[in-house]
Amino acid sequence: MMKEIKEKLISLKGEGLFREIKDIDKLEGKHIWMEGNKYLDFSSSNYIGFRDDRRIIDAAKDALEKYGMGSGASRVVVGTASLYKELEELIASEKKKEAALIFNSGYDANLGIISTIIGKNDVVFCDKLNHASIYDGIRLSGAKMIRFRHNDMKDLENKLRMFRKGYKRALIVVDSVFSMDGDKANLVEIVRLKEKYDVTLMIDEAHGGGVLGEEGLGLAEELGILEAIDINMGTFSKAYGSQGAYVAASKEIIDYLINHCRSLVYTTSMPPVVVGASLEAMKLTKNEKERRDHLKYLGDYLRSRLNEAEIDTLESTTQIVPVVVGDNDETLGLSVFLKDHGIMAPAIRKPTVTTPRIRISLSSNHSKEDIDFLVETVLEYTNRKRSKKDKVIKWVKNVLHKTHNQEKKDKKNIQ
Ligand SMILES: *Cc1c(COP(=O)(O)O)cnc(C)c1O
Repeated sequence: MMKEIKEKLISLKGEGLFREIKDIDKLEGKHIWMEGNKYLDFSSSNYIGFRDDRRIIDAAKDALEKYGMGSGASRVVVGTASLYKELEELIASEKKKEAALIFNSGYDANLGIISTIIGKNDVVFCDKLNHASIYDGIRLSGAKMIRFRHNDMKDLENKLRMFRKGYKRALIVVDSVFSMDGDKANLVEIVRLKEKYDVTLMIDEAHGGGVLGEEGLGLAEELGILEAIDINMGTFSKAYGSQGAYVAASKEIIDYLINHCRSLVYTTSMPPVVVGASLEAMKLTKNEKERRDHLKYLGDYLRSRLNEAEIDTLESTTQIVPVVVGDNDETLGLSVFLKDHGIMAPAIRKPTVTTPRIRISLSSNHSKEDIDFLVETVLEYTNRKRSKKDKVIKWVKNVLHKTHNQEKKDKKNIQ
């Protein structure tokens, strides 16, 4: 076995795709400190600045004092601090569902929920760009997976028409905001289709929660369709600046999960200190409309400046903005160039995505001037690339021109 592992590692390194976990020295506001340097941070999902919000830290401290550190065992075995119940009731009422349940992470939630509510004789319709945890949940369930083209409602309907009838239970599952492209699911149309074809709908609001909607409840709130979502899942690990995940649904679905969901039953529950932080974050988001509006403004401004310079931002309409500048190497080159100029923004390359890009995560902590600095640094890189490319093209043209003239001369001489 070791031989295969070693070979795989060598080939990863050869392709420049080997990953290492880097040390972060400090995180504060919109900055990140690494390897002794300070960077303007466009890499974190700290969308509304909750990561180091005093009010949330204080709530966590209170929970820590009251309940201690560990939670001791699975919730199903010994029960959990009343903080859990308070958070679950708050989520259920805000998401307009009968009940809710907390998970230790978004990954645990998707893996457990999907593999519990559907099985071998069922079918799942899955957007191609859904998060990896959704894919893993479907695979674990043993259900038939039908992938539809990203956000393509015609393709989804065709596939529903073709495959829905042959299966007992059916599920459509989509990210509400897609984590690499920053575009929104076409939820209104999906709701129409799920009703027409009698399918259960599950959404993952990991990147919509805290960010979209008047009260920050996500895309379903923004579109006014909270009631139409059967299973509303999301995480506390992104905008809420905490850790863990939730699902809101009917009382029956939640009871069923409590009894059968293995990623809930067979794991020690999250420490109350984290639940205390999530609860406070959930309460506070309602009143952070100003931060949300500022975040939206920053996204629109960044896209308009980049698009003006003919830099593609794909279909992004949110706080996640892909910046497309070329192939894997060119994209990695830009990431290094940004870092050299004090900006942290990751290159996301093939095979993770089909179109290599720099993935910008905006935060309400950023200012318009931060965006200007980012754009100008990106442009400096692309202009240099362009002028280098122009030079090469000029040189090639020149050479071709010379050979052409030489050929003409040669021909003349022969004649
Ligand atoms: C991050 C993320 C998850 C996983 O959540 P964790 O709490 O980090 O495990 C699930 N779904 C989506 C869409 C995500 O972006």
